[in-house]
Amino acid sequence: MKKTKLFKRFLKYYRPHKKLMFIDFSSAFMVATLSTLMPYGIKMILDNYLPNRDLKMIGIAIGAIFIMCILYGLFMYVNTRWGHVLGVRMEADMRADMFAHLQKLSFKYFDRNKTGHIMSRISNDLTSIAEAAHHAPEDLLMSVLTLSGAFTFMFIMNPLFATICLVPMPLIVIWGMIFQGRMIRGFRQVRKKVADINSRVENSIQGIREVKSFTNEKHEIRIFGEVNRRFVQAREDVYAAMAGFHSGIHVLIYGYSLMIIGVGALLIYYDRAVMAEVITFYVYSHFITRPIFQLCGFIEQFQQGVSAFERFGEIMEEQPEIKDPPKPQNPPVIKGAIKISNLWFRYSDDEQGEWILRDINLDIRAGQKIALVGESGAGKSTLAAMIPRFYEAVRGSICIDGINIMAMTQRFIRTNIGIVQQQPFLFDSTIRDNISFGKPDATEDEIIRAAIDANIYDFIKTLPDGMDSEVGERGVKLSGGQKQRISIARVFLKNPPILVFDEATSSLDNESEELIRDAMERLCSGRTTIIIAHRLSTVRDTDYTYVMRGGEIVEQGVHQELLALKGYYSHLYSLNTL
Ligand code: ADP
Repeated sequence: MKKTKLFKRFLKYYRPHKKLMFIDFSSAFMVATLSTLMPYGIKMILDNYLPNRDLKMIGIAIGAIFIMCILYGLFMYVNTRWGHVLGVRMEADMRADMFAHLQKLSFKYFDRNKTGHIMSRISNDLTSIAEAAHHAPEDLLMSVLTLSGAFTFMFIMNPLFATICLVPMPLIVIWGMIFQGRMIRGFRQVRKKVADINSRVENSIQGIREVKSFTNEKHEIRIFGEVNRRFVQAREDVYAAMAGFHSGIHVLIYGYSLMIIGVGALLIYYDRAVMAEVITFYVYSHFITRPIFQLCGFIEQFQQGVSAFERFGEIMEEQPEIKDPPKPQNPPVIKGAIKISNLWFRYSDDEQGEWILRDINLDIRAGQKIALVGESGAGKSTLAAMIPRFYEAVRGSICIDGINIMAMTQRFIRTNIGIVQQQPFLFDSTIRDNISFGKPDATEDEIIRAAIDANIYDFIKTLPDGMDSEVGERGVKLSGGQKQRISIARVFLKNPPILVFDEATSSLDNESEELIRDAMERLCSGRTTIIIAHRLSTVRDTDYTYVMRGGEIVEQGVHQELLALKGYYSHLYSLNTL
């Protein structure tokens, strides 16, 4: 992305927080001004009021320095607190924008990008941006103002002495840059290692059933041990940098102050300075070391912030691959006739990529119930995912009620299609929340009605917390059949005219299967239904069946006709895969 565009995008995030920004930067300005004025007050006492034995002015000056000292503390407090608040509010705005943007992106984006990476962008990256967003300008402002102010006063007082004071600066700056840089990079490594630990734990806990059934606990512990060891190493490296930085800082600060006294003593000896200047310079030395280190840290922090913001910009620039038409033609109601003509599709964007669907033609009347059958990998789920426009056809068209789905908004199509997945995803919340996901503003009565229709209400009633029972992560506290029925209840609430049902293959017990079949029949009635069928009983019940193989429809008809063909369908049937 172009730097100017990036910069404009960045400034946008300051805009809503102008007041905070003003408070933050003006307090930084005040801290810098006071750091310059306080030592100068001391010079005035020692150099002007003391030789004139002006007790009143000495008193006023001491009072003024004392008040400045308190103000310094107050402005520092305001700057530290509200500067961080500014950063964190900007971070929250960016996070909200990023989350909203992620919701817009198409399936292909999520196929390409790992969840862990997206998570680290939305958490760690944004934190570095927020830190840089307030620290970088604050530190730059504070350090440049303090250093230039202090050295201006020092040069006005005693140019020779001030020049000598500049000599060790490069050493301090280089030291600061090396160790600050190491520390900041080290902490970034530590954050990465913590992310590795988290993802390792997440992976292992999610797969705990696999781990235990393969008795691979030792293997998991060994892998975790390695990740943990890398974390310790990263931390140890940071401690080395921290120790180098802190010990160095102290030596340099004390050394610098001592040098000022030493050089000052020599200059007094040769009549090139007076005691008041030496003391004032000594006091200045305390105020200028902090800005020097701030300046060193600024470079690294700024770079990190910029590269994190570039990554943020990349996601925000990512365009949803599937776009709504500029002038949508959403019909007032959908009856549910689906016509798929000469449809070709591949996941890969590469022209040479393998076709997953080849020249598919399907004609489904409104209210008809059809089955898609075929071996695993034949392309059934892909075909079903194309109807709600989760993926875009490379060639050919899909029309609903005679209107090409490309001419409708995605929201409109998707509100008119209900999908029941083979392995339904339940959110880590209550049964009520999971059902009302189908219609977030549903009333309690509607939710109960949907649960009854989906044959899950009797089960819910047996739970101590009823509808308020937590389903656990991904619905782990429920059986496969119960999850399916909850996802059917969701679709009852949604009440769409078109239904896509990926039948569960996992061997459900008879009772569960019966309950699902019954709920499903009720759900299908009066709706156009596409069932990815795995059971013969389902195929028999449907109006028409399409048989898929290697991305093509190789046979079609009703069960008896298909059997009579003695082709691929009858082969599948004889193998008992139906
Ligand atoms: P079925 O539902 O008949 O089992 P699918 O539609 O799931 O078949 O898969 C058809 C082919 O598409 C398979 O070869 C599979 O590997 C591939 N495929 C499925 N989903 C994706 C995806 N998101 N990205 C890339 N390839 C995919």
